Amino acid sequence: MTAEIISVGTELLLGNILNTNAQYLSRELAALGITVQRESTIGDSHDRLADFVNEAKQRCDLLVFTGGLGPTADDLTKETVAGCYGDTLAFDPEEWQKIVDFFTRTGRKTTPNNRKQAMVPVNGHKIINNHGTAPGAWFEQDGHCAVLMPGVPHEMKAMWEESVCPLLLARQNCTLHSITLRVLGGESDIEYRVRHLLENANPTAAIYCKTGECEIRITARAETDSSAEKMCRAYATKFYDLLGDAVYDEDVTGLEETLVHTLKEKGLTIATAESCTGGMIAQRLTNVSGASEVFGFGFVTYWEQAKAKMIGVDPAAIAKYNVVSAPVAAQMALGAAEAAGADIAVSVTGLAGPNGGDAVRPVGTVYLGAACGETVYVKKLFVSRPDRALVRARAAQAALELALRLAQGKVPADTQALAKSARHDAAALTALDSTFLKG
Ligand code: ATP
Repeated sequence: MTAEIISVGTELLLGNILNTNAQYLSRELAALGITVQRESTIGDSHDRLADFVNEAKQRCDLLVFTGGLGPTADDLTKETVAGCYGDTLAFDPEEWQKIVDFFTRTGRKTTPNNRKQAMVPVNGHKIINNHGTAPGAWFEQDGHCAVLMPGVPHEMKAMWEESVCPLLLARQNCTLHSITLRVLGGESDIEYRVRHLLENANPTAAIYCKTGECEIRITARAETDSSAEKMCRAYATKFYDLLGDAVYDEDVTGLEETLVHTLKEKGLTIATAESCTGGMIAQRLTNVSGASEVFGFGFVTYWEQAKAKMIGVDPAAIAKYNVVSAPVAAQMALGAAEAAGADIAVSVTGLAGPNGGDAVRPVGTVYLGAACGETVYVKKLFVSRPDRALVRARAAQAALELALRLAQGKVPADTQALAKSARHDAAALTALDSTFLKG
């Protein structure tokens, strides 16, 4: 089946809003095995929309519309598309009653133009909107179909999930199963390694990049749930074979969720000592329900005095090595673990910019520490784009990754180890510092 996505609304053309609906629908249609041939945005004009639809419906099997289902004069999608598919609209008392009830519940009165939303296809059918007042619509003529959904993103997504996706699956006589792999690393590297797996028709696999990681969504279509699940699982194995333990979990919202679950499983606790991230790691950890079982202390030690007073960083080490240095990151992590009585502690000290920095420590230089038992592991991160938000986000992500590896009982990659007993040993600290300065 082939499709085109048509977003209706002048405000989209003016750049007032971002077309997130089209992005969502492209992903969803691809997962259904429906080839999206074109995405278009049309303003609120009856004639331009009608001309476009009359051409587009000849090009493909299905047109997917969002927007323009509201009560105002410039909401024209339903009337226009009905005309293009040889259909008309009729007043639906049941839909009208729902609209009246909605207005009564929210303490408002309907106006005559609200009746427009209760007009539904005569030959096609309406699609129930459980999250707003505008019903969707389905039109069909000579095997060409059109589906109309509201523009408001949460209403559109709900209608897609509850009605349109099941309808399209039923027409194709199949069911769907998805697995989302979470993979650590940069998009270009990951994509390069798995690119040949991203071209498959069924299961489909798509890669989406986030800060410091990627999401690979695998979706299989089959006649039954269990065979779709089996196909998905078999295809996921191919990714595991290529990516190894860069795949850190499946179907989770992020690294913090996996970390909290892993810590819980192992009966471990964690503490944080944050400078340039200012609490972002703690915030991500506490986004996970049940985080209090594993996370009790987060130190935000922005000032040098705070690093010394709260987590025992040696002011002489700051003076000697710089506050953004491997020895300071090591002392921060060890000090936080001790002060909190935690099994694992992670630390971050860095230059988020955009101002500051020098040739040795340019903006984007970040040192991370991860203490566990008698050892602290230190890592250097460099974010070449001097973008404050990006540097902080990458640093928080890298710290969570270090913590996860320790919680899994692994030595984190690209780190230098320092024994806890050497935390004030000048020779050991200098050796640690120079390893990174050389690198
Ligand atoms: P309703 O009748 O529920 O108001 P509608 O179908 O008339 O919805 P529009 O009036 O076109 O939808 O859009 C309503 C709002 O939804 C817009 O102001 C915008 O904020 C958002 N919206 C519309 N289209 C898109 C889109 N393609 N992507 C993201 N947001 C959108």
